[in-house]
Amino acid sequence: MSSIDNSVLIIGSVALDTVETPLGRVERALGGAAVYSSVAASFFSPVRVVGVVGEDFPEEHIAFLMSRGIDTRGIQKVPGGKTFHWAGSYAGDMNQANTLLTELNVFQSFNPDLPVDYKSSKYVFLANIDPELQLKVLDQVPQAELVACDTMNFWISGKRDALLEVLKRVNIVFINDAEARQLTGEVNLTKAATLIHEYGPKYVVVKKGEHGAVMYCDDTICFAAASYPLEEVTDPTGAGDSFAGGFMGYVASTGDLSPDNIRRAVVYGSTLASYNVQDFSLAMFKRLTIDDINQRYNEFRRIVHFDPLG
Ligand code: AMP
Repeated sequence: MSSIDNSVLIIGSVALDTVETPLGRVERALGGAAVYSSVAASFFSPVRVVGVVGEDFPEEHIAFLMSRGIDTRGIQKVPGGKTFHWAGSYAGDMNQANTLLTELNVFQSFNPDLPVDYKSSKYVFLANIDPELQLKVLDQVPQAELVACDTMNFWISGKRDALLEVLKRVNIVFINDAEARQLTGEVNLTKAATLIHEYGPKYVVVKKGEHGAVMYCDDTICFAAASYPLEEVTDPTGAGDSFAGGFMGYVASTGDLSPDNIRRAVVYGSTLASYNVQDFSLAMFKRLTIDDINQRYNEFRRIVHFDPLG
């Protein structure tokens, strides 16, 4: 008898990030799309992560991921190699990162070869990374039932064709407002989401930073989530990845793909994103508990509740 496999398989960048915001700066701190999303998902489900690091990647970071119950056998370490390094800064409303440096390093020659037990994963999240790598992973998970992807401006302009190929093959895309406009050339977000829906994904989740997230299904808004009203955002890095990880981890933990449950997943995604931005790197997630998460989930419910007309 086979046991139920509710693990989420995640591929994406595993990074050392140098980040500056009005509230401070961190140098070569733990980051990367796969890291933020894996840790967010790990609050709900087992996670298998696929990525690559160099010899400079501190062992303590791997130990931290393992302490979260994340299976790190899919992270290759390249002898003599240098880890992916991203540097960015934020100013003003901090809704958009200003990329100062993208050093792909070991990702340039990465050829993901999944451990055999990863290949039966049903829940797959293709976090932000070269869409050609996303496709290589997708080819190795024939039993996937729910596949989601994320991307960013760097790949929209640099690897558009591969990205369109990914979009044909996923059920859900998480994308922010600026990226949705860049991808489609359409300023109006509803029109942009309709176009992206036509590229392939059933659900198009457009993240709008401090203005929440909107999910489009079948050409129409099927859910709108507020963002949590924080008085202070310390570091927005990883908000999108945390959103997607929380969403996927929750869906996998329930095995329920009904529209109502997908809405709950959007709220959990917003919850994880809102916590993540309250500190640099993974610091907030290191001290977060599932009770904190559920408490904020209920706060989200309270702030958007209204009665039907009498
Ligand atoms: P987010 O703030 O959720 O959009 O993602 C931030 C993370 O994306 C950072 O931790 C970076 O290491 C990572 N990142 C930045 N540029 C890229 C890129 N071109 N490909 C993959 N990951 C990236």
